[in-house]
Amino acid sequence: MTGFLMSTYKRLPVTFERGEGAWLWDTSGRRHLDALSGIAVAGLGHAHPAVQAALCAQAGRLVHTSNVYGIALQEQLGERLCRLADMERAFFCNSGAEANEAAIKLARLHGHARGIAMPKVAVMEGSFHGRTLATLTATGNRKIQAGFEPLVEGFVRVPYGDASALEAIAAGEPDLVAVLVEPIQGEGGINVPPPGYLAALRALCDRQGWLLMLDEIQTGMGRTGRLFACQHEEVLPDVMTLAKGLGNGVPIGACLARGVAAELFGPGSHGSTFGGNPLACSAALAVLDVLATEDLPARAATLGDDLVTLFRHRLQDVAGVVAVRGRGLMIGIELDRPCADLVGQALAEGLLINVTADKVVRLLPPLVFTDEQAQLLVDTLTPLIRHFLHQS
Ligand SMILES: *Cc1c(COP(=O)(O)O)cnc(C)c1O
Repeated sequence: MTGFLMSTYKRLPVTFERGEGAWLWDTSGRRHLDALSGIAVAGLGHAHPAVQAALCAQAGRLVHTSNVYGIALQEQLGERLCRLADMERAFFCNSGAEANEAAIKLARLHGHARGIAMPKVAVMEGSFHGRTLATLTATGNRKIQAGFEPLVEGFVRVPYGDASALEAIAAGEPDLVAVLVEPIQGEGGINVPPPGYLAALRALCDRQGWLLMLDEIQTGMGRTGRLFACQHEEVLPDVMTLAKGLGNGVPIGACLARGVAAELFGPGSHGSTFGGNPLACSAALAVLDVLATEDLPARAATLGDDLVTLFRHRLQDVAGVVAVRGRGLMIGIELDRPCADLVGQALAEGLLINVTADKVVRLLPPLVFTDEQAQLLVDTLTPLIRHFLHQS
């Protein structure tokens, strides 16, 4: 690899040049099974024909104008997303971190509107919200913050999955105005909170007048078995952020809001040059069409259940496997030791996986994964995990 790129990533020694569904072909012509989807991005699989057709048609018509003009596709996408998520207004940007930046700015406006000069947002231990200065401050991982001090003011860290811990901490934090939380923590290790957690947060936010802001950047777009993970618990947030799977690889993020949160931004208070341009919106509209017509969230639910059952069965007697958990096609296999080496070992077998939080094998296959591909994933990965735990 050349030295002309800043070394922000320790890259694996492989380069892909073509994809189709859950398959990727590298530059030597070798085929790999993609159980990661570019980290929960290519939910419809690679080179999906509907997304390709939408992009090609739109590229030949109009790619970009500006948000100083009307953008019909952005209005359509905003309406579609709001109707699907039960929200009222959308702001479009180009990434997850930007969507969360918009949410954090909404929280601050909400605070100022309530006469709080220095408003604070509650964020969770183990969370991930992005790499901009505000979102890395919101992130509950010291490694991501180290070296970038001074961090941004106005965040209070609380334990994940424990609404009463937040309530106790809130008693001493009169300036809290919002809670920013992932329905399931992704980078943090596929941490599934106890049932009722989101509903308890919703009730607490209602009592306190706080905004409940759900980061559905990884959990959204059908991945967990519902279009949005909060729909499992029938909890409506005030603010919801989306990105990753929204454009199936075309960069687009969204910050959705309802109620008071939907009315906080006015002309000039936020913006984006590229956000919601016709090309990106055409991709996202195609993604929504395919998710609905192929009922992919339901597919993610059943296939995810099957995969967890298969992995639990195949790994039940293996010492060193702590847990197999997840929801839909967001699956974590936690081991009792750091296991980053498994990524390279899987790559050597033609399988693309990820390890997060040091000890958790993370699987985020495309929602179009077939039963045969699921079986191949289990048949390839379980012997690798067994062998890894034996020799390390
Ligand atoms: C990936 C991710 C982000 C950041 O998205 P970027 O597009 O990389 O800025 C934020 N929150 C969650 C939960 C994510 O998984």
